[in-house]
Formats: sequence, C-alpha cells, structure tokens
Amino acid sequence: MSTHKVFYFSHAPQDVYDIIREEVPPGFELISLDEDSDDERREKLTDCEVVIVAARPMTREFLAAAPALKLLHHQGVGYQDTVDVAALKARKVTLALTPAGTSIGVAEHTLLLALAVCKRLPYADHELRQGRWHINSLRPYSFELDGRTVGYIGMGRIGQETAARFKAFGTAGIYYDPYVALAPGREDALGLRRADFAELLAAADIITLHVPSGAATYHMIDEAALNQMKPTAIVINTSRGTVIDEAALCRALQEGRIAGAGLDVFETEPFQPDNPLAAMPNVALTPHIAAGTRDALKTKMRALFQNVQRFFNGETLENQVDL
Ligand code: NAD
Repeated sequence: MSTHKVFYFSHAPQDVYDIIREEVPPGFELISLDEDSDDERREKLTDCEVVIVAARPMTREFLAAAPALKLLHHQGVGYQDTVDVAALKARKVTLALTPAGTSIGVAEHTLLLALAVCKRLPYADHELRQGRWHINSLRPYSFELDGRTVGYIGMGRIGQETAARFKAFGTAGIYYDPYVALAPGREDALGLRRADFAELLAAADIITLHVPSGAATYHMIDEAALNQMKPTAIVINTSRGTVIDEAALCRALQEGRIAGAGLDVFETEPFQPDNPLAAMPNVALTPHIAAGTRDALKTKMRALFQNVQRFFNGETLENQVDL
C-alpha cells in the first residue's frame, strides 16, 4: 500500500508534532517543518497530496509549488484569510474545514477574556508581581457577568457555544446575524433575542464578535460603532483582527468611551510591543490561542484525519467548502 504524504504547513514545536502524529492513521505520513522556512516549505510541498493549513496562509505561490496536492484541509474554520480560494478552484484542489475541536475552545476563551477584563486580571496579576496589592483600588472598575447583557455579532457555531456558556453566568443575550435562522426553541434555550446592529451596540454590556473575516465584516466595529456603545461596555474579539478598526478601538479605550477589551486577534499579527494596547490596564490580550488547547488539537486532528481517509476512500467529505 502506498503512503500518502500529509504536510503540516505551520511551523510548530516538536511536542505539537508529537500530538498530531498520535492521530495519524496507517497509510499516511506526516511531513513537518524543521525550521519556519519558506524554502523548506516549497521543497516539502513537491510530493505532498494533502496539506494541513492553519495560521500560515496557503498562497498562490505555494500552490504552484505543490503539483501533487489534492486536498487542502484547514485545521480550523477561518479559511477566508488563509487560503487563496480562486487559485485553489483553478487547480481543482478540494478544501475542507475542521469545526470539531474549534468551537468549544473559542467559546471558552471568549468567557476567559470577558472575565479577565471584568476583573482586570492581567493588570492585577502584573501589579501583584511588582509588590503592589490592589485590594481596594480595582473595585470601581470591576464588575460581574451576572445580570449583564451580552451582544453577539455572528451566531454560527462559535456564537452558539459562547451563548450557552455566558447563559450559565446569568447573562441576558441579544444577537445580530442577518444570515442565520436558529431552530425553533433554540433562542429560548440559549437565552437569546434577535436585535439589529444599532440596538445591539447601544444595549450590550459585553459585545463579542463571532463573524468570519471578509469585505462584509471589515471594520464592522469602527469609530461610529464604538461611539454607539455604553461607556461601561467591553468588547471581546476572538474572530479576526480585521473586524475591528484597531486604531479607533485604541482611541475609544484611551478616551474612556468604552471600558475595556479582550482580544485574541489583531489587525497585525504577531502583535508587536509598540502596539498602544500593550500599555493599557483595561485590556486582556492573548496570541491567537482561542482554539489552541491540547484537547482541541487532538479533537481537530482526529476529525481531520477521518476526513482525509474519507477522501482517499472516495467517500463524501464532511465540512467541504463549495468553491
Ligand atoms: P460560522 O460560519 O459557523 O459562523 C459565522 C456566523 O457569522 C454565521 O452565522 C454568519 O451568518 C455570521 N455572519 C457572517 N457575516 C456577518 C455579518 N456581516 N454580520 C453578522 N453576522 C455575520 O463560523 P464559526 O465556526 O462560528 O467561526 C466564526 C469565526 O471565528 C471564523 O470565521 C474565524 O474567523 C473565527 N475563529 C477564530 C479562532 C481563533 O483562534 N481566535 C478560531 C476559530 C475561528
């Protein structure tokens, strides 16, 4: 039996590759990078039939270096900014996504960021380590989730998992998503009410973003949207950095027009320390790790390799993108 080469396109530490290799079925060989090198990528692409793409984009140029490529499998779901769809379509390469293992991790991370901002956790932790004990001074700026209104922008897989978790903290939920129709009873089960964009911005205490990147969502949260929010509102973004006009967000935070932000994604990644957000006490920042747990990686890889096996068995793929 011939072995199919599956190339993990992002560079990662050895212990990440070890977790992935545990999920590789017989008949497949995982190809990984020794260095974060584009020359090595091009060299290893030459005889791979499957590529697993994550944060590192699969560009037109890399596709041209992969003559044997048949299946591009995204490790997560956000393919709009990591795959050159037109080039893929022209080459007739199949694209599939991996929602398994993604939604719960991102939903948990959204709650983590919301709680961290509500209690100013990064600031309190940093100050404590410097010997400053803020037993009382943070009280005026800290608040609980209980009784607050969460405004969800985007109510797909991650939006719904997030709503289920916020509800357990006693929040009320409103959501804006013109393209989704929740099954009967689902809104009640998640404690949700549909709202329009302007109503959501004005009413929510916590605004959380769960939309894909793309032209329709580019800078959805801009100066005008920020100005409609309550001065006590906080914004959480675990979707994509492009959804927020980051310069406008920084101004709103600095001028106290909103109260805080929890961000896992940024307009420019990796985040640089000269970013003005780095100096703000009312933000919680993480390096695009919302779905980055060991659990999520194992779940994703199991689901992904099951799909890869389906592909080579000629069976119908799960979560194939209609190109
Ligand atoms: P999904 O497709 O299930 O849901 C997205 C929802 O957004 C859909 O219901 C869609 O109708 C809605 N939507 C699209 N355009 C909109 C608009 N202009 N206004 C309002 N709603 C709109 O996707 P998902 O699995 O929930 O993932 C959402 C996004 O989260 C992904 O596209 C990805 O960018 C991001 N993500 C981030 C991480 C991370 O590590 N931080 C991990 C996974 C996914």
